[in-house]
Amino acid sequence: MRVPLSTSDLPVFFADRHAVLAARLSPMATSLIAVENQHEGIDCARAVANEMARQGLFEWLLPDRSNGQNSTARDRAEAPERAAAEPGTSSIDVRALCLIREFLGYVSPLADAIFAVQGLGSYPLAVAGQGQAMADILTACRHGQAIGAFALTEPEAGSDVASLTTRARQVETTRYVLDGKKTLISNVGIASHYVVFANTDPSAGRKGITAFLVKRGAPGLTETAIELNIDHPIGALEMRECEAELLGQVGGGFRLAMQTLDTFRVSVGAAAVGMARRALDAAVEHVCSRKQFGERLADQPVVQSDLATIATELDAARLLVLRAAHARDSGRQRVTTEAAMAKLYATEAAQRVIDRAVQLFGGRGVMAGEVVETLYRAIRPLRIYEGTSEIQRLIIGRALVKG
Ligand SMILES: Cc1cc2nc3c(=O)[nH]c(=O)nc-3n(C[C@H](O)[C@H](O)[C@H](O)COP(=O)(O)OP(=O)(O)OC[C@H]3O[C@@H](n4cnc5c(N)ncnc54)[C@H](O)[C@@H]3O)c2cc1C
Repeated sequence: MRVPLSTSDLPVFFADRHAVLAARLSPMATSLIAVENQHEGIDCARAVANEMARQGLFEWLLPDRSNGQNSTARDRAEAPERAAAEPGTSSIDVRALCLIREFLGYVSPLADAIFAVQGLGSYPLAVAGQGQAMADILTACRHGQAIGAFALTEPEAGSDVASLTTRARQVETTRYVLDGKKTLISNVGIASHYVVFANTDPSAGRKGITAFLVKRGAPGLTETAIELNIDHPIGALEMRECEAELLGQVGGGFRLAMQTLDTFRVSVGAAAVGMARRALDAAVEHVCSRKQFGERLADQPVVQSDLATIATELDAARLLVLRAAHARDSGRQRVTTEAAMAKLYATEAAQRVIDRAVQLFGGRGVMAGEVVETLYRAIRPLRIYEGTSEIQRLIIGRALVKG
C-alpha cells in the first residue's frame, strides 16, 4: 500500500526530521497490515502493538525529561529546534505524533487507537513519575514491553470528569488503595498498567483528584472487556481496596489529566485526517472505474463536485491540525483553543468525508469488509473520546467570551 503522507506540501509546518519520519513510516504499512490480517480479537491487538514496538513507533510518545542532558544522539539531531524553543520543559514532538497518527489512521485504525492510548498511559508517568520503578516502566513502554492505559471516565462521570467518585485512601507514604469503577478504558486486555484518577479528598472537589499507577493483576482489580462495533481493545475496571502507587502530587491529578489530554488531543484530529484521506482515495479509485449511464461516475459533474467538497474539507482539517501541533511544538504551552478547533473540525469533517465516500460506493459502500464501510464505523468514536464535539465547542466558546 502506498500511503500519501506528505510534509513537502506544507513545509512551513515541518522540520527536516519530519520528512525523514514520513519517509520511514510509509514502508511500515505492509507489515502492519500483514500482522493485522494474521490475527483476530485481542491477540490481534497484542500483535499489532508488538509490531509498532518493533518499528520503534512508541519512542515518539515520550518526552525527554532531562531537557537534553540525557537525550540520545538521535534526539539531539532530530529535535534541536524543539529543545531551543522549550528550555526547562519536557515535551514531545506533537507534529511527529500527528504524522504517525495520520499514517496509522490511513493504514489501521486499530493500530492508531493502541498507539494513542499507549501515549495517554505513559506520558503521565514521564511527566510526574518518580524513582527507578517508574523509570523502568517508561523504558518498557518505549520498547512495547509495557502497554499503558488511561483510566479517567466512570459510569457516572464522562464529560464532567471532575465529578469522578473513585476514592483513594493512603496506606503508607506512596501506597494507596482505590475503590470505584471506570468504564470505556481503551487497551483493557493488552494493558500492563493503568494510570487511574481517583479522589483523595472528596470535599476538595477537583483539587482532591490524584493520579495513581495500578498494575494489571493488582489485588482488588477486576478487568472486564467491552465489545464495540469496531476493532478496539476496551473494557471496564472495578477496584475494591485495589493496590495503587501514587503518581505525582496528591491533588495534582486533574491538572495532569488535562495536561495529558491537551498534548494528545490535536493528534486525534490527525488520525481523523488519515482515515478520511483513505476514504477519499478509495472513492476516487472507485468512481474512476465504475461506469453507469455509459460513462465513468468520475465524469459526472455531480460526482466531481462531491469529491471537490470533501477534498477541500480534508485539507482544511489537516491545516487546523498542523496549526495546533506547530504552535505546541514552538513552545506555546496553552494551545487549548487551537487543539479543540482541530479536534472538533477534523473529526466532524472526517465523518462527512467518509459518509460521502460510502455514498459514492453505492450499495458496495455498506458491504461488510469494504474499506469505506470499516472506516464509517472506525471514525465514529473520534467525535466522542478525549472530549466530545460538544465539549470542544464549549472550550472554544468559553475562550471567545472570556474577554
Ligand atoms: C472508543 C472509545 C474509547 C474511549 N477510551 C477511553 C479511555 O481510554 N479512557 C477514558 O478515561 N475514557 C475513554 N473513553 C470515554 C470517553 O472519553 C467518554 O465517552 C466521553 O468523555 C464522553 O463521556 P460519556 O460517554 O459519559 O458521555 P456523556 O458525558 O454522558 O455525554 C453524552 C452526550 O451529552 C453531551 N454533553 C455532555 N455535557 C454537555 C454539556 N455541558 N453541553 C452540551 N452537551 C453536553 C456530550 O457531548 C454527549 O453528546 C472512550 C470512549 C470511547 C467511545
